Amino acid sequence: MTAAPFATRFAPSPTGYLHRGHAFSALTAYEAARAARGRFLLRIEDIDATRCRPQFEAAILEDLAWLGLAWELPVRRQSEHLADYRDALARLEARGLVYRCFKTRKEILDDIGRAPHGPAEAYVGAPLAPDEETRLLAEGRPYAWRLSLAAAREALGGFEGLSFVEDGQGAPQVIQARPETAGDVVLARKDVGVAYHLAVVVDDALQGISHIIRGEDLAEATHVQRLLQALLGLPTPVYRHHRLLTGPDGRRYAKRDKAETLRDLRARGVTPAALRAELGFA
Ligand code: GLU
Repeated sequence: MTAAPFATRFAPSPTGYLHRGHAFSALTAYEAARAARGRFLLRIEDIDATRCRPQFEAAILEDLAWLGLAWELPVRRQSEHLADYRDALARLEARGLVYRCFKTRKEILDDIGRAPHGPAEAYVGAPLAPDEETRLLAEGRPYAWRLSLAAAREALGGFEGLSFVEDGQGAPQVIQARPETAGDVVLARKDVGVAYHLAVVVDDALQGISHIIRGEDLAEATHVQRLLQALLGLPTPVYRHHRLLTGPDGRRYAKRDKAETLRDLRARGVTPAALRAELGFA
């Protein structure tokens, strides 16, 4: 059996300008692809129409090119592929693996007994009785689609067979997936009809991604994504979660902290070579 050709990607959301943390992540993936003589793809994760802006997408392309990266064309833009995600959801729906959730965020938080701003993901619910669901649908009440962990467990005969290879920091390890810690995750949001986990899993398969190289802040997401791959019959890539870059204050770079952007760096004369060197890339 021949191994799948090496292909990796950088998948930013155009909700702000890129900062050093993004540059580190993009360079990590890009250099891995170069070392493996593999493919490097760029994917714009713009399903959240309320937060994504075309000018941020344009800036992402410009900043990555400035950094010296090159990627295959066309760039996959998630907002242009909603039908792919709808198809995947329909396949799960046909097998009873998802259910409609009409609850508001507040109701979910109350249900799981957590303070606001805590992770709402660890919710576990159940489909409504058919007459109740029919009534809410007739009222035009909005709903999200959630993955049913109970139905998924039954369909797969348990989660014990789900594992993935983590080939990040240190020797490669086989990790047992624990999708249950995330609860019944939302696969399709009320507003946009799709959500992060579903879109990522569908896209990684469609784009032939063999290695997912991303920050360790997304390591937890892998467990749910592994389950979705199993349910949708998609291949499981190798995962490489890299350390998160921290600033001089020891904290990780984040958009919300107004981290200095790559555009700011460029404006004050920092060269791509200097930034690459600072980030540990020769
Ligand atoms: N769009 C995600 C982010 O910006 C990354 C998704 C992924 O790499 O799987 O955090």
